[in-house]
Amino acid sequence: MSNLPCPCGSDVSFSKCCDGYIRGKRVPETAEALMRSRYTAYVIGNVPYLLESRHPDFITENEALDIQSWIKDVTSWDKLEILVAEKGTAKDKLGWVAFNVFFHQGDREESMCEYSRFSRLNGRWVYEEGELD
Ligand SMILES: [Zn+2]
Repeated sequence: MSNLPCPCGSDVSFSKCCDGYIRGKRVPETAEALMRSRYTAYVIGNVPYLLESRHPDFITENEALDIQSWIKDVTSWDKLEILVAEKGTAKDKLGWVAFNVFFHQGDREESMCEYSRFSRLNGRWVYEEGELD
């Protein structure tokens, strides 16, 4: 998979994109890059990364199980589409990203639109919470 295009849709190979973030070799510089790497973690089923990249104040009690059951229900992750990214650059403390995720559950084509907020915790971008549209 490493030479294939990254699942996040960046047009860069997986090994040069989200793989390094997920394996902890690199830190995403922007909220958008973190968001993309979280999508990729869903695609490859990396639950620990999804928990690590979350602000601890916002993690729910059953978060790991909820993530696992969602991943299990999805038969294919089809596309991530970033709609807007506000702030969230290397010099910001907060950032917002609006995105669409397209996926299949069995034969059903589904999509989800979310407006997510990110903040910096110990110098690293983390996901706080999102509003579904
Ligand atoms: Zn990527």
